[in-house]
Amino acid sequence: MFAEKNCHFFLLLLAGSTLVMANPVPGSCKLPNCRRPGTSIPGSLEASKIPQMVVLTFEDGVNSKQFKHLKEIFGETYKNPNGCPMKYTFFPTDIDNEYNVSSLLAGMGYELASHSLTHKVPPSAWSNMTADEFKQEMVGMKTKLTTHSNAKVAGARIPFLELGGDVPYQVFQENGFVWDSSMIAGSLTYQNDAPVWPFTLDEPVSKKYCAFGKCPKGSYPGLWEFPLNRLYNDKGEACSLVDRCELPDNTAGVLKFLRKNFYDQYYNKNRTPFGMYLHISWLRWSAIFDSAKAFLEEVAKLDDVYVVTVSQALDWVKNPTPLSQISTLPSWNCKQ
Ligand SMILES: [Zn+2]
Repeated sequence: MFAEKNCHFFLLLLAGSTLVMANPVPGSCKLPNCRRPGTSIPGSLEASKIPQMVVLTFEDGVNSKQFKHLKEIFGETYKNPNGCPMKYTFFPTDIDNEYNVSSLLAGMGYELASHSLTHKVPPSAWSNMTADEFKQEMVGMKTKLTTHSNAKVAGARIPFLELGGDVPYQVFQENGFVWDSSMIAGSLTYQNDAPVWPFTLDEPVSKKYCAFGKCPKGSYPGLWEFPLNRLYNDKGEACSLVDRCELPDNTAGVLKFLRKNFYDQYYNKNRTPFGMYLHISWLRWSAIFDSAKAFLEEVAKLDDVYVVTVSQALDWVKNPTPLSQISTLPSWNCKQ
């Protein structure tokens, strides 16, 4: 579930909180552990020489009924150019997750990340949580996935993408999270800007790269942000999750939207990872799922497109590798 408020942003006055403000030494922010937000390609490589990554994520708990649908995108059709299966990232919550199913996914090499225990409403609950409450929710889910699904949990997404200032990032950093994927980037209407590559939170993030909600003001060295770059419909209106976009209720219309965003904004620009962010419940809605399948089938035919997990995408960003040497990146090789 997710609700993006377009009309107002929150200004957060961090009275009394202890922030570690960045005092970076010029030139000290370097890969693999530090990257400033921006649109330039990591490693200064040319767009035509790098893989175009696609990152497909599913929010909320998984069960056996959905697994039947998911199996449709696990098949032989859905392979990367190196012959390995396409990989996706799941963000389950405890309230609606069947741990034997998420365990199956983890065993197949899909990524599991924390999306809280309760996903409680209203959304504003998340922007006003104490560190203890937030820790219980997000670290609690990480622990459950680790113990009950044998998953290696590196990342998180905050419910409703409702940022809570510095609280979430302090909790992430203190509890061994490697990345977060909750910040929205990009303008509210289509401006033909290139999307933003993932970055670290070594320096306080500006509104340009954290364009919605209570952004953190502190510095979290080495913690990665995998931003949700906004997508645009044919009226130029923005949305961050595919199933929250105002789109035609038919497969052809949704596929056209995916293709236009993919080719115009990513593949033919700076090749930022193209994010397709869905809710697991939308597997039942054929316009979205069928168009996602048709899109995956199309990109499976391109020899420079790889569908990878958030962690695999970040591994590429940390170690920018030209397409011609992609077999040297261990995390992209088949593990089964
Ligand atoms: Zn959710």
